[in-house]
Amino acid sequence: MTEMSYEAPNTLVAAVALLAGADGGGKILAGGTDVLVQLHAEMIDPDVLVDIKNIPEVRAMSENGGAWQVGAAVPGMQIIDDADFADAWPGVCEGVALIGSVQVKGRASIGGNLCNGSPAADSVPALIAAGAVAMIIGPGGSREDAVENIITGPGKTSIGNGEFIVSFGFPKRPAHSGDCYLRLTPRTEMDIAVVGVGINITLDDAGTCIAARVAVCAVAPRPLLVADAADALIGTTVDAGAVENMIAAVRAACDPISDKRGTKEYRIKTAGVIARRALEKALERAKAN
Ligand SMILES: Cc1cc2nc3c(=O)[nH]c(=O)nc-3n(C[C@H](O)[C@H](O)[C@H](O)COP(=O)(O)OP(=O)(O)OC[C@H]3O[C@@H](n4cnc5c(N)ncnc54)[C@H](O)[C@@H]3O)c2cc1C
Repeated sequence: MTEMSYEAPNTLVAAVALLAGADGGGKILAGGTDVLVQLHAEMIDPDVLVDIKNIPEVRAMSENGGAWQVGAAVPGMQIIDDADFADAWPGVCEGVALIGSVQVKGRASIGGNLCNGSPAADSVPALIAAGAVAMIIGPGGSREDAVENIITGPGKTSIGNGEFIVSFGFPKRPAHSGDCYLRLTPRTEMDIAVVGVGINITLDDAGTCIAARVAVCAVAPRPLLVADAADALIGTTVDAGAVENMIAAVRAACDPISDKRGTKEYRIKTAGVIARRALEKALERAKAN
């Protein structure tokens, strides 16, 4: 193991410079609930640990005309305790609320949940369903990318060398919109998902679905946006036939492993069950808004 240095810069520019100076040997530290476990288990061996929690932009949470900007290192508890954000995005808060215990969420961030690259990361399907966009900074300047493009495989992301996520943008919600995240686990908490589904839906005044996004986790090597599942709902009144088509599309997108939490067949079957329940909740919220 090489000697590791710890840095806690106060600005984005200083953090980018530290990562550039580390020439690929730098590792971002946000809440540390994954990083510290991995360091302890000697799964990672960075030269420089760059703690971003002193940088104001990654700790800020703000609303502007209905659109939200949430810093990548804002702790989960701060997100779910923000009544206005919870009112706008209850499904995102459901995803965040499932990350570990209250103590874990006192540190854990959505930037860390995403960039750890777990196929079962609980906040990620909800972020994808919300249409959240990651604001990324690095040696080449700033760029934006949709959350569904960030995780590329187990433990792997599209975040380049020296880059990190500053914040996430959430669009203003149209009227009659609702979202929901549900997961199935063998235990009630402190375990990862066997399957997780995030759904975000918008209806018109007559109750026809005019927009939908459906995302799944723990049923493929990475969390997935399932466009066919959304297409099954859009243009319908979310009648029984549309729901069955949505479920069939979710199941068709699943490519899970079998492990101690469930077989491949079990995950595919339950993905449809969880998708139906998440849709019912999202629909109930959309009708109430
Ligand atoms: C007891 C326990 C229970 C848990 N339960 C769950 C659970 O139920 N569901 C679940 O999804 N997770 C769970 N986790 C995993 C973990 O808590 C989450 O993944 C958490 O959201 C990680 O956030 P963090 O801020 O602690 O990330 P960190 O550990 O700081 O970082 C995680 C990874 O992301 C990178 N990173 C962090 N921030 C950024 C950024 N802004 N830009 C680029 N890269 C970045 C880091 O370099 C690292 O590779 C659990 C962990 C523990 C210890």
